[in-house]
Parts: sequence; C-alpha cells; structure tokens
Amino acid sequence: MKVLVTGGAGYIGSHTCVQLLDAGHQAVVVDNLCNSSEEAVRRVESIASASLPFHKVDIRDNDGLAKVFDQYDFDSVIHFAGLKAVGESVAKSLMYYQNNIQGTLTLCDVMAANNVHNLVFSSSATVYGDPATVPIKEDFPLSATNPYGRSKLMVEEILRDLHVSEPAWNIALLRYFNPVGAHASGTIGEDPSDIPNNLMPFISQVAVGKLEKLSVFGNDYPTPDGTGVRDYIHVDDLANGHLKALERLQAQPGVVTYNLGTGNGYSVLDMLKAFEQETGKSVAYEIVARRPGDIATCYADASLAKKELGWQATRNVEDMVRDAWKWQSQNPNGYR
Ligand code: NAD
Ligand code: UDP
Repeated sequence: MKVLVTGGAGYIGSHTCVQLLDAGHQAVVVDNLCNSSEEAVRRVESIASASLPFHKVDIRDNDGLAKVFDQYDFDSVIHFAGLKAVGESVAKSLMYYQNNIQGTLTLCDVMAANNVHNLVFSSSATVYGDPATVPIKEDFPLSATNPYGRSKLMVEEILRDLHVSEPAWNIALLRYFNPVGAHASGTIGEDPSDIPNNLMPFISQVAVGKLEKLSVFGNDYPTPDGTGVRDYIHVDDLANGHLKALERLQAQPGVVTYNLGTGNGYSVLDMLKAFEQETGKSVAYEIVARRPGDIATCYADASLAKKELGWQATRNVEDMVRDAWKWQSQNPNGYR
C-alpha cells in the first residue's frame, strides 16, 4: 500500500512509519514540524533501511497538500497531525480548533479530490470524559471537558457524517489510551519541546537529571493507592493497531471505532516504581494537589479491537519503562 502519514515526524507517527516500512508498504510523511523534527524521519529510514519521503507541509494548506497528492498514488491516509496539549488548548482554543478541525477538513477535501477515501484517524480516550464505570467500551457516552478533547469529538462526528453523505469513505477512528515507551532501538521516541505534560516523559527527565522531581498530582483519588490510574500502552503496540486498521478498511469498508489500550490500569506510583525497578534509577517525587480536569481512573475494554482487528497489546509495563529510558538516556536532549 502507499500510505500518506500526516504528522509522521511526531511521536506516534514516526513509530507507525517504521512498521509500515517494515511491512513492505510505501509511506510518505507530511508534517509542518510544529512539534517535531525532521531528524525523526531520517532515523525511521535508518531503522527500517528504507526511504521515507518527507514534505514540510501544513495540513491546512490545500495547495501544498494537493501538490503532495499529485506526486504519489495514495491508497490510504493515517492522520496523526494535530495539537495535543490539553492546558494549551484551554488557553488557545481557536488555534486548536483551526489546527485540528480545519486541518482535517482540508485533508479530507484534498483526499476526495484525489479519489482517496481510506482514512485512519487518531482519536483519544479523552472523548469518554469522566466515565461512569471502567473498563471503557466503545459505546460508552462521549463528552469533552476541554477544547483538545472537543476537537477530537467533533472530528469523530464530522467523519461519521462524511461517511453517511459519501459512503465511499472508509474510516477508522482509533481511540488511544496512554501511549508511552519508544522503539526498542532507543533511536526514536517522545520528544516534548517544553517541560513534559505527560507522566512518562516527566519521569524519564527526572531520572536523566533534567528535572528535579516529579509532582504527583493528587493521592486522594478513589484508587488503590490514591493516585490516578491509566491504561499505559507501548507506542509500538499502538503503532501496530494502525496497520491492522488499514487492513480492516481494505477488507470490510465502512466506519469503525476501536479502543487501543491494554485493558490494564496502573497508578502513577505503580509506574514510578516500575521505572525505578527496571532502570535502577531513583526518581524524586512529591505529592501535590490534583491537576484540574484529571479523572481518577481510565482504562480500556480492548476486546473489540482484538475480535475485529485481530490486534492486542503484547508489551508489558517493564517493556514500556525500559524502552522509555533507553530513548531518554541515549538522547537526553531528544532530537536536538
Ligand atoms: P506529536 O505532537 O508528537 O505528533 C503530531 C505531529 O503533527 C507533530 O509532528 C506535529 O509537528 C504535526 N502537526 C501538528 N499540526 C500540524 C499541521 N497543521 N500540519 C502538519 N503537521 C502538523 O503527537 P503524538 O503524540 O504523536 O500524537 C499524534 C496524534 O495522536 C495527535 O493527533 C494526538 O492528538 C493523538 N493522540 C495522542 C495521544 C498521546 O498521548 N500522545 C493520546 C491520544 C491521541
Ligand atoms: N501525572 C502526574 N504528574 C505529572 C504528569 C501526570 O502525577 O507530572 C498523572 C496524571 O495526574 C494522571 C497520570 O499521571 O493521573 C497520566 O497523566 P498524563 O498527563 O500522562 O496523561 P492523561 O491521562 O492525563 O492524558
């Protein structure tokens, strides 16, 4: 298959490109590099020993995208490009809606103009809001508490409408739980441009000496140790879900929605301890107030993806923390 990967220089996109190339597909990346580096694309080429054409294009730029589509005969698009920081989305909501929604609309316009109708979209478990129960199934009620989450929810709805009005579209909405870890080579990984918002890169940066200590956001949640519980999933397992989704769209057209998680919940302190045990590094931390907007517990029922995609996560928490550390320790300053 020839696959356009928007946001392919980013964290999840770069890992997915490795697997596309390893599986013998041709991949092409468009990315405006607003949160990534072209170096990631070069490293993917070196891991996969294959070429990965890169075009620095903003997905809101119709003409720029159209020029890329003129050069290749794409079968499918995996659409990662988007802004993802919850706090920033509250402060800069218009920027988030323009980027995440306008960007997707422009991408779909250019796809339609080029007769490309297979799309895999990066959604998020955030579309479940604060679920009444866990594990979370795909048919649970959806809601959003911030502009980032709302942009994901709106794009899901737009894409479902698109299939209703034009049934030629085949769309997979993949709801990611908490991607962590890095490629086993340690040469590509998550490279936050600023102080990390997410737990795992924060822990890694404390361990490598870039940050002083982890703030654990609350220990008074109704969870076994009082800290927040999440479904951490190795980024390479997540990446593999995209290949399975592409196969599914070829075999059985339509709109499908899948949770991509492990089905297991780990607390903040579980992750901290697993990291210390696996790496031998100690990580200083203090308990601070809850982070506004955080929920107590979130983990997937991932049985639908297993049943319909033949996909399930295979890597455990030890793999996740070991690979996160390998990337961080080999690249203390990320791609810079
Ligand atoms: P990332 O920031 O590493 O990758 C996103 C990429 O998109 C970056 O390389 C960025 O430069 C690019 N990009 C952003 N806006 C663009 C635009 N207008 N035009 C072209 N390129 C643009 O993030 P990631 O963690 O790899 O996430 C990929 C996708 O998955 C995002 O849509 C994100 O919302 C979604 N997601 C991520 C998580 C997570 O925890 N990492 C969880 C759920 C969903
Ligand atoms: N967390 C924390 N300290 C941090 C970052 C995160 O205690 O510096 C906690 C957060 O409260 C949540 C879990 O770690 O319980 C995962 O947070 P993250 O931001 O990685 O992902 P989220 O589930 O919020 O998208």
